Amino acid sequence: MAVSRRAVLRGGLTVTAVGALGATVPIAANAAGSRAAARPTMHGTADWGARPPNGTITVLDRKPTYIVVHHTAGGNSSDKSLEHAFEISRGIQNFHMDSRGWVDSGQQFTNSRGGHITEGRHRSLEVLDGGVQHVQGAHVGGHNSETIGIENEGLYTDVDVTPELWDSLVQLVAYMASQYGVTPDLIRGHRDFNATECPGTVLYGRLPELRDAVGAVLGTPVKPVRTWPLLKPGDSGPKVRAAQHLLRARGADVPADGVFGRATFDAAKALGADYQPCYASRVADESGFVGTPTWQLLVREVPATDPGEAGKAARVLLSANGRRVAANHVVDTAEWQRLLS
Ligand SMILES: [Zn+2]
Repeated sequence: MAVSRRAVLRGGLTVTAVGALGATVPIAANAAGSRAAARPTMHGTADWGARPPNGTITVLDRKPTYIVVHHTAGGNSSDKSLEHAFEISRGIQNFHMDSRGWVDSGQQFTNSRGGHITEGRHRSLEVLDGGVQHVQGAHVGGHNSETIGIENEGLYTDVDVTPELWDSLVQLVAYMASQYGVTPDLIRGHRDFNATECPGTVLYGRLPELRDAVGAVLGTPVKPVRTWPLLKPGDSGPKVRAAQHLLRARGADVPADGVFGRATFDAAKALGADYQPCYASRVADESGFVGTPTWQLLVREVPATDPGEAGKAARVLLSANGRRVAANHVVDTAEWQRLLS
């Protein structure tokens, strides 16, 4: 049933054109009242010669809440063939089973630079097609029961994805959102959960565009998403200084100098915020990055005039945002997030 839609969609059509497709292809409405997305071409584990899993694949009787975008942090290959996509699928599975000791590939799906989508963890494809259950993966520390993940081949810290990868990512995420009734604001990056660079600053920066593209396919409005910043060694400025004051408020021995050095990394790591590396992280250790889970541990409601370290952190950010401190001003979590964005 999906073959004709798939064939039509493979040309890398624009979002507008996909939307226009609704006029000629019968489109069912899902429970949320939005349009159903076309099913992209996806290659199952048997197609790429996966090893059998090393244990039980857990299938939860619930839908995932979030769709999570990753990058493999591996090489940015120029080989766009299907055979190469199969090869990286095998490489990831071997790495996850042999080096990480997992039962199977951690992610449910893999997307190659050539725009080829493969099934990662066994059963992910049939369960996604079913649209009511969730294959539990291993890709977001502390959140695997509520997240379905896509590993995108490559490293996107400084460079952009290929057009082919982008097109297949939009199609796959739209299909997932359609199958599970996930709204576009629940399309997130790995760094929205764990203290990690993943999915790379460039690809992460395109997530608003991805949400808009998926919203256009589904015909649903896109609510804005507020996120926490990622700070890492070498960064400097008021956000780093605020983080240092908040770490000092927790008893850490770090200088509040606004420069992210070793002491700041060690102190952030010691907090034990949720962390999980991706397939082949090129950063030696991202566990001391100050990211979403770190901020969630660090920030608390505080009067802006508080003489302690938390108050100092608040004033650093208020000042950086050109705000004056009023006598009765209390900084709550929502305001911390606004000041840090
Ligand atoms: Zn990741």
